[in-house]
Amino acid sequence: MKKNILILSILIAFLTTACGAPTPATPTAPPVDIAATALSIASTSAAATIAAIPTATAIPTATEVPYYLTAQIWAEEARVPIINYHQFAPNTSEHSTDHKIRMEDFIAGMDALNQAGFVPIALEDWLKGNLLVPEGKKPVVFTMDDLFYNNQIRLDENGDPRLDTGLAAAWEYGQQHPEFGFEWALFSNLGDKWYADGDPEGKWKDELANTIIWCIEHDARVYNHTYRHIRLDLSDAQGVRWELEQNDLFLRELLASKGREDLIPQLGNMFAIPFGYWPQGGAYTAMVNYATPEGDPMLGIFDIDWLINGAKFMPPPYAADFDPLRIPRIAMPTEAVAYLVEHKDEFPTMVSCQIGPLDAEQVSNVDYVGDAIQTSIASGACPAGVYVIEGKNFDARAGQNPHWIE
Ligand SMILES: [Zn+2]
Repeated sequence: MKKNILILSILIAFLTTACGAPTPATPTAPPVDIAATALSIASTSAAATIAAIPTATAIPTATEVPYYLTAQIWAEEARVPIINYHQFAPNTSEHSTDHKIRMEDFIAGMDALNQAGFVPIALEDWLKGNLLVPEGKKPVVFTMDDLFYNNQIRLDENGDPRLDTGLAAAWEYGQQHPEFGFEWALFSNLGDKWYADGDPEGKWKDELANTIIWCIEHDARVYNHTYRHIRLDLSDAQGVRWELEQNDLFLRELLASKGREDLIPQLGNMFAIPFGYWPQGGAYTAMVNYATPEGDPMLGIFDIDWLINGAKFMPPPYAADFDPLRIPRIAMPTEAVAYLVEHKDEFPTMVSCQIGPLDAEQVSNVDYVGDAIQTSIASGACPAGVYVIEGKNFDARAGQNPHWIE
């Protein structure tokens, strides 16, 4: 404690001096060692490392500060497990099933994944090329099908999620464990059930609209699972198109009923196949060519599979074996979680590395950055892999001439 007070006194004295000193006519040398500061900042994971000098006086512009960029690197190809949940059962239920997981088992699974170093990522962002995952963490995706049942999520009379519903419990867990957070992709069938308690007067639509708005605003994004949970293998092209479109139109109608058309740009176009029954021929073509009312093309189609058939994971979107029209998901959440925890060391994480020193003027030039990555790899300072630098991805895998992935 005494030591802290001493440091505080020195700090106050320093700040008082710095603030109270008369403005010098000529720039003075900063009261710290620039080189040492730059070095210590470069060794942290700060993104752009132009040294921030803790002083109120202006920094002399002539001083040479080594400029580094921090790269986050997938040195090994990412493997992203996508777990598929359905509904929730109270803790009084005897055991969890594929379609109804006990609330306790559900949250215990979240915690087991968190302890094992997994972190949920936003599925749509990943598919669109946001490959950034916190250093040392393994990405996992949570999906849920057949929305909206009132055991999956329901709001109370104040508009807050009821903690006896599944998604609300996951959200609460994320609030208590911010390093884990809350990211979900929800695949909805809006036309096959009355929401909540169901009532013929149409109040269910009101509750459903409010629930959907809450979800979208809390990073549980809403996607398509057909309007009435149909079997696509028994449908023709027209039927498939109608099911996909009807779900999308009703979703927009619900948002519009609350004046929340502003959320429509967050809806996207992703589709999970009901029952895992794939359509054939013209029906298949209709499915993959389906565009939303706003004209967004299909971004991803999701399958369902069981671990007994072999564990399958989503490769990164740049990988040779990535097929956006058949992305694997794992059924049976309790088994899936147990598998992931047991095999946690088989899932790579990102590493970080400093690229530089660089010419600060040129760092927005992707060719220049590509060359700098090449130099860092050649010198052995950084590993080959896919680099994320300042929100841009660079393919610098072995055998590649490092280049920006647009
Ligand atoms: Zn389903």
